[in-house]
Formats: sequence, C-alpha cells, structure tokens
Amino acid sequence: MKERIHKDVIIIGAGMAGLTAALYCGRMNLDTLVLENGIIGGQIANATDIENFPGFISVKGGDLIATLQQQAENFGAIIDEFDEIEHVTLKSSPKIIETQEKIYECDVVIIASGMNRRKLPLPEEKKFAGRGVHYCQLCDGAAYNGKIIAVMGGGNAAVDAANFLTKYGQKVYLIHRSEFRADEVSQKRLRANKKVEIMLQTEIKALRGDKRLEEVEIFDKKSGETKTLHVDGIFVNIGVVPNTKLFEDELKLTASGRIPAGEDCKTEIEGVFAAGDVREKEIRQLTTAASDGTTAALLAEKYLSKLKG
Ligand SMILES: Cc1cc2nc3c(=O)[nH]c(=O)nc-3n(C[C@H](O)[C@H](O)[C@H](O)COP(=O)(O)OP(=O)(O)OC[C@H]3O[C@@H](n4cnc5c(N)ncnc54)[C@H](O)[C@@H]3O)c2cc1C
Repeated sequence: MKERIHKDVIIIGAGMAGLTAALYCGRMNLDTLVLENGIIGGQIANATDIENFPGFISVKGGDLIATLQQQAENFGAIIDEFDEIEHVTLKSSPKIIETQEKIYECDVVIIASGMNRRKLPLPEEKKFAGRGVHYCQLCDGAAYNGKIIAVMGGGNAAVDAANFLTKYGQKVYLIHRSEFRADEVSQKRLRANKKVEIMLQTEIKALRGDKRLEEVEIFDKKSGETKTLHVDGIFVNIGVVPNTKLFEDELKLTASGRIPAGEDCKTEIEGVFAAGDVREKEIRQLTTAASDGTTAALLAEKYLSKLKG
C-alpha cells in the first residue's frame, strides 16, 4: 500500500515559476514539496546567454536554476524529480496528489507545469527522431560540426536555435511557413551571419533518408516551387504544448490548453493556483514566471492562514 503523507503546499513543476514559489513557501515555513517529472529548470535549464533577467548582464540557464534550486532547498522546500504524478484530485479537501510511490494530501496546489516543444507534424518524424530530427540544439548541436543544418520555426526559440547552431554548421537554413515572430535583435543577429539562409513562406513537406535524415522537401509558397534540400539535421522549434493533461478533468482550460487564472494566479478551485507559462496570459518570460511564483506562494500562505484559523 502507498504511504500517505500530508504537505501544506505541493508545487507541480520545478521551472522558474515552481522554484520561485518553492523559495517563497519554504521561507514562510510552509511544508513544501515540489514534484518534477522532467529536468529541474524546465525550458530554461539548457538555455545559454540569458540577457534579460534583472540583476545579471548575462547568465546561463543552468547556473540561474542551480542557484534558485539551492535557495529553495536552503529554506526547506523538498524537490523530488523521481516520483511521477499519476492522478490529481483538486476539488476535495484535502487535495490529493497520487504519485507512483505515494499518496500526498495537501491544502494548496500550485500548478507550475509550463510547456513542452511541439513535434514536427510529419509521419516520418518518428523514423528520424534522434537520427537527424532534433528538438534541443544545446544537447545535439555539437554532433553537426561542419554539417548542413536546418532550423524549423520563426519565433524567438527558432531564431535563437539558428544563431546558436551557426557555431557548428557550415550552413544553417532557417525555414518557416510564414513571417518571423522573433524579436528584432535576434533577427538582426541571424541575418548578419553569412552562414545563414532564411527561407520564409516555406513549408517542409517531407523528410527523406535511408537510416538517417538526408534531405527535406520544401515548398516555396511565393513561387509555388517544390525543391529538395540536402540537410544532415533539422532542429524543430515550432511552438509549444501546455502541460495540462493531468488537470483536464479537474479544471476548465482555455482554447490554447492553458489554465485560466488572473494576475493573482487563483484558479476556479480555492487553494489551487496556476503560475508561469501554464497560466493563460500574454507575456511568458522568466520574469513573469518568477512573478507568478511569488504571487501564488504569498496568496497560498494567506489562504492557509485563513484555513487553519
Ligand atoms: C530556448 C528558450 C530560450 C528562452 N530564453 C528566454 C530568455 O532569454 N529570457 C526569458 O525571460 N525567457 C526566455 N524563455 C522563456 C522562459 O524560459 C519561460 O517563460 C519560463 O522558463 C517559464 O517557466 P515556467 O516555470 O512557467 O515553465 P517551464 O520552464 O516550462 O517549467 C515547467 C516544469 O514543470 C515540469 N512538469 C510539467 N508537467 C509536469 C508534471 N505532470 N509533473 C511534474 N512536473 C511537470 C516540466 O518538466 C518543467 O520542468 C526561453 C524559452 C526557451 C524555450
């Protein structure tokens, strides 16, 4: 039988939002557990050169997160990255989070489960995943030293990936089906690099190769031409999927699959907060994730004080 354990606060996700909430909850002496089912740090764990987090000229994601994790743990928060959540019941009192190993009862749940990368939407994706199709330039980029690389996407993540991959590739194509959404500074850096060829209004229609990816078929929407491009690897950055599957039966979600909650991070269920990129909001940045984590933690403490009289 699974062990039953009570916690004041359970935080789901150890990204910027979850770890900030953990730091604040721990500092307010709340018995706090963070459950993480991927990499501590979430989206930012592997990012290089973060230049817009206040207080740092430039910082690596890994360094920022390691410090934040230490801060949260120093204040007593426990972070468990090995026990996966199987089921949540949020409407009950206490709220129940059942993991593979334990059953947690808690008064507050802070959902900070963020988002994941969207997969390349072609049937060949499965065949070439890890054999030419990649999602993490920092993890897999070095394998393409001197090779021909394509990046798919037109937002900040895609342009950052393309800029980074120019370290390795002899040639880097940026292929996007419409116009850029990335910020001007990143676009300008990319355009200035002679290794880069930008192909906007261009769709990737097929992937080909024997054991590994060897070429992609592209369709130029302006000219109506179909071409074959030799590429050794393609790094896909075409958007994200909010991590909300676990909460589908418990909370109403927005059309984009995020959790509706205002600036106070309160969801429709008392004692349940949504913080960071998983919350429906316009601006999704590290600073806004940290801000949500702060708000959720401070209002969680208020809620707990009232609950406990
Ligand atoms: C390549 C890249 C570069 C970026 N650069 C910048 C930048 O320079 N400046 C900036 O301000 N922003 C940047 N961003 C955006 C920024 O990273 C995000 O806004 C921020 O990290 C969101 O934090 P979060 O904690 O809300 O979510 P996430 O970082 O997505 O973290 C959520 C965490 O929850 C975990 N999780 C999900 N589901 C579960 C579950 N069921 N159980 C347990 N854990 C779960 C995930 O594994 C993850 O660790 C960048 C994003 C990317 C992808």
